[in-house]
Amino acid sequence: MITAPKGTIDITPKDVYKWQYVENLLRKITAGFNFKEIRTPVFEHTELFQRGVGDTTDVVSKEMYTFIDKADRSITLRPEGTAGVVRSFLQNGMFADAQPTKLYYIIPCYRYEKPQAGRLREFRQFGVEMFGSYEPSADADVISLVKLILNKLGVKDITLNINNIGCPKCRSEYNKKLIECLEAKKDKLCPTCQERLYKNPMRIFDCKSEICQELIKDAPKMFDSVCDDCKDHFDKVLKYLDAMEIAYNIDKGIVRGLDYYTKTVFEFVSNSIGAQGTVCGGGRYDNLVEELGGKPCAGIGFAMGIERLLLVMENTGIEIPEEETCDIFVAALGENADFKAAKIVADLRTAGIKAEKDHLARSLKAQMKFADKIKAKYTVVLGDNEIENNKVTVKNMKTGEQQETSIENIANMLEI
Ligand code: ATP
Ligand code: MG
Repeated sequence: MITAPKGTIDITPKDVYKWQYVENLLRKITAGFNFKEIRTPVFEHTELFQRGVGDTTDVVSKEMYTFIDKADRSITLRPEGTAGVVRSFLQNGMFADAQPTKLYYIIPCYRYEKPQAGRLREFRQFGVEMFGSYEPSADADVISLVKLILNKLGVKDITLNINNIGCPKCRSEYNKKLIECLEAKKDKLCPTCQERLYKNPMRIFDCKSEICQELIKDAPKMFDSVCDDCKDHFDKVLKYLDAMEIAYNIDKGIVRGLDYYTKTVFEFVSNSIGAQGTVCGGGRYDNLVEELGGKPCAGIGFAMGIERLLLVMENTGIEIPEEETCDIFVAALGENADFKAAKIVADLRTAGIKAEKDHLARSLKAQMKFADKIKAKYTVVLGDNEIENNKVTVKNMKTGEQQETSIENIANMLEI
C-alpha cells in the first residue's frame, strides 16, 4: 500500500470541521480589519526565496523543496507566504492603489524539516501583509489582529514576545560588535553558525543548537544598539499596544527565522505544546519590497501555523463545535418508494434543507439505524401507503414527537 509522504498529514472529516471553524473565524475577523484575501502560486522561481527570505536562513539553506522543471528552471515550493505576496504586489502594481494595502492568505507551505509534533513538511499558514505604512500604528494594527483572533478562539495561555532588531544602518555597526564578541569562540559554534558569523551574525540567535544558544547568551543584543529612529519607532509601537491594552514581554533574543525583518519582530508563544511553542511569528520588513525590485515601500506582517494553533486549542481543552450535517433522513420501504424518496430529498435540498436518503439498499431497520448514526434531526418513513394517501409522519429524533403531514409540507414541519 502507498502511504502519504513523511511529514504530511491527511485532514479527514474526523478533523476537518475544526479547520473549517478556525478558517471561517480567521476570514471573518481579518475582513473586519479591512484585509483582502490574496492567492498566489504554490511554486515560485527559487531565486525569489533566495533573495527574499535570505541565503543564510535555515529555511533557504536547508529546508526548501527545490527541483528543476522540464525546461531547466529552478522551481521551489513556497516555504512561506511573504515573498510570493511581495512579488505579486509588485507584479500587479498594487503599490499604485490607495495605501496601505492589506492582504491575507491561508496557504499550504513546504519545508524539508525533521517531522515531529507541530513540525511538518507540508503545513498550513494563515498570514497577513500590510504594505505602504512606515507608521508604528501599522505594527500595532497587525499585532492586535493576532490578539483578537486568539481571544475569539478562547486561547489564553499565550505570551506576546517583542523585540527591536533595528535597520541595516544600525545593524552594520552592531554586527561588528557581535562578530568581535563571538570570534574568540568561533570554533565552538555549529558549522552553519561558523559560516554565518561573518555573513549574518545576528542569525546565530535563531540557531536551534543548544551550544550556540549558550555561546550567544551573553553577547550584545541588537535592541541595545539601535539608532534613534529605530528606537523612536519601537517606543511608539509599545505605546500603541499600551493604548490598546495588549500585554507584551520584551525579549531581546528574538530575531525570527527569516532575514527580511527590520525594527519590530514579534512572536506569540504558547507553553502548552512543548518545544514547538511558537504559534505565530512576524515583524516589519521595510526593505523587502525594494530588494525584490520595487520602489522603497514599507511592509509588516505575520504568519501563524494553523496546525500549531489547533494543537494549542486541543491541549488547553478548547472544544470546537461539530456542524450538524443532516436535517432529515427520508427512509423508503421498497423500490417504488425509493424513487419517490429521491425526489423528496431533491426538493428538500433545493429548499436549502440538509436531506439524505439510503444508498445501500438497506432494510428499513438498517436505514433508521444509519439515520441515527449520522445524527439526523428528523426522519420520515415512506412506503406505498404513504405515497398513495399523501400522508407521512415526520419524527423528531430528539424528542420522539411525531407529526402527520402531506409530502409537499414536510419542509414546513422542520424546526432547523
Ligand atoms: P520555528 O522556529 O518553529 O522553526 P520559524 O521561525 O521557522 O519557526 P516562521 O518561518 O516564522 O517560523 O513561520 C511562522 C509560523 O509557521 C511558525 O510560528 C509556526 O507556527 C509555523 N511553522 C513554521 N514551520 C513549521 C513546520 N515545519 N510545521 C508546522 N508549522 C510550522
Ligand atoms: Mg523553522
